This record gives sequence, C-alpha cells and structure tokens, in this order.
Amino acid sequence: MKIDLRKLISGKVEAIPFEIDYNINIEELFEATGIIGATPIHTTGKIIMIGSELFLEMDMDGQLTFNCSRCLTRVEMNFNKKLNKMLLAEESDDLDTIVIVKNQLDLVETIKEEIIVSLPTQVLCSEDCKGLCPVCGINLNYETCSCEDEKIDPRFEILDDFFS
Ligand SMILES: [Zn+2]
Ligand SMILES: [Zn+2]
Repeated sequence: MKIDLRKLISGKVEAIPFEIDYNINIEELFEATGIIGATPIHTTGKIIMIGSELFLEMDMDGQLTFNCSRCLTRVEMNFNKKLNKMLLAEESDDLDTIVIVKNQLDLVETIKEEIIVSLPTQVLCSEDCKGLCPVCGINLNYETCSCEDEKIDPRFEILDDFFS
C-alpha cells in the first residue's frame, strides 16, 4: 500500500492518517526473521508536515510466533512498536529516516522493514534455555541424558597416560 503525499506537501491537508492490518508473508520473512506465524499487524498512524519536513508517526501491534533458537519450542511474542521518523526524498545514513520515492510512502514496505530490524537475532523460550542435546536430540529443559559422558574419546585417555 502506497500513500500519496502530494496533498500534504502542497498544504491541501494537514495530516494523512492511516490504519491497516498488515498480513505478514511468512514465507518471505522466515529467512530474515525466523517468524513461523503471525496475527495481522494492526498498524495505525499518520503523516504530518512540520515546517517543510514530513514525519511519519506509526504504532504497530500484533503477535508473532517463532521456534526457540535452542530447543525449537514454539514461542509467542507480542510485537508492539511505536516509531517516529522523518521522511526524506534521498537516501540517508540516519536510521531515523525513511526514503520516499515520487512523493509516495510505501507503507507496507516500511512496516515490513521495521519488523525485520526490530526483532532479536535469536528468539529463546527463556534466557536460560538449555537447548537440545546435540547427540540424542532430547530437550534438556525437561529431560537429562548421559550423552556428555559417552563423548570422551577413549584414545585421549591413552594419550594422557603417555604424557604423564
Ligand atoms: Zn528453548
Ligand atoms: Zn543426549
């Protein structure tokens, strides 16, 4: 969804309000974010002009589902984000700006980008998730196994004897 900003720029209106439910394309975002499910992201906001500068105020709200990076358990996360950014016609290094092309703001692209940059690189079911045993695959949060003990290679014990 693209928002035409010309009425705002020419002073015909003072603000352009918007409200959409953004449906995340899971297949598209999975690789970048690990999202495996999502409610529609309810997004409200407006674009206003202050002096000769355009600003976007936006509020996003929804729920995202992930697999825990360590144990693969489903994790539900509330996603709420407010943002306030300046709109610019040219690329800028300033992270608080968004580039508009041909006096249009690509709202859907903006929401998508914000979700991607807001998410942690790893989503965990809990800070101290013990993960899965790399040998037998059981969930170490609920069970224990004796794989650790079996991993010691008997050949190292022989070397130990040799050097002592
Ligand atoms: Zn976990
Ligand atoms: Zn194990």
